[in-house]
Amino acid sequence: LFAGQSEFVKGVVAMSGLPPADRIEVCFAGRSNVGKSSLINALTGTKGLARASNTPGRTQEINYFTQGPDLYLVDLPGYGYANAPLKIVEKWQKLLKQYLSGRQTLRRAFVLIDARHGVKAVDDEIMKLLDTSAVTFQCVLTKADKVKAAERDKVLSQVRAALSKHPAAYPEIVLTSSEKGDGIAALRSIIAHLE
Ligand code: GDP
Repeated sequence: LFAGQSEFVKGVVAMSGLPPADRIEVCFAGRSNVGKSSLINALTGTKGLARASNTPGRTQEINYFTQGPDLYLVDLPGYGYANAPLKIVEKWQKLLKQYLSGRQTLRRAFVLIDARHGVKAVDDEIMKLLDTSAVTFQCVLTKADKVKAAERDKVLSQVRAALSKHPAAYPEIVLTSSEKGDGIAALRSIIAHLE
C-alpha cells in the first residue's frame, strides 16, 4: 500500500469539492506546528508533498493525497492558531463537522499530539467532535526524538487519561519521529490494515 510515490490531488474548501468516494481514506488532524506535514511526507516517503510550513490565519484547505490507487491520505487544516479571524475559524469548523460526519469512506482519524506537550484543550475539542461524528481516532505522538524517556512516559500517561474520556478513541498510541523515522513503519502498517 505504501510502495510508490504519493501525489497531491486537490485542496478542498467545500463538501462539493471532495473527490469521488471511490476508495478508503484516513485523515490527519493536529495543532499547527505539531509536525503534520513532516509526518505525511515521512509516511509517503515523498519529500515536499505536504507543505512543511503553514501561514497562521490563512485560509486553509482539506488537502487530498493519493497513496497508491486504493487509499487517500487527507491533511486537515492545522488548528489552534491564536490569531485566526473568527469568521475563518467558524467556516472551517463547519466544513470540518460536515466532512467528519458525512464522509462514508473515512476509516480513521489520526490526531497528532506533540510528545513534549501532551493533549491541550484544542485537541480535546477535536476529539469531542470525532466522538459526536462517530469517527474512530488514534493518537500519534510526534517529535518523539525531542523527549527523554521519563518525560515521554509522563506525556503518555496524560494522553492515556485524556483518551479514556473519549468513546471514539482507539486505545493504542503511536510514538513517531519523522526526523528519525521511528514509528513510521508501524503507522503505515496500521493504515494498511484498515478496511
Ligand atoms: P505542521 O505545521 O503540523 O505541518 O508541522 P511541520 O511538519 O511543518 O513541522 C513543524 C516543525 O517541527 C518543523 O520545524 C519541523 O522540522 C519540526 N518537526 C516535525 N517533525 C519532527 C520530528 O519528528 N522531530 C523533530 N525534531 N522535529 C520535527
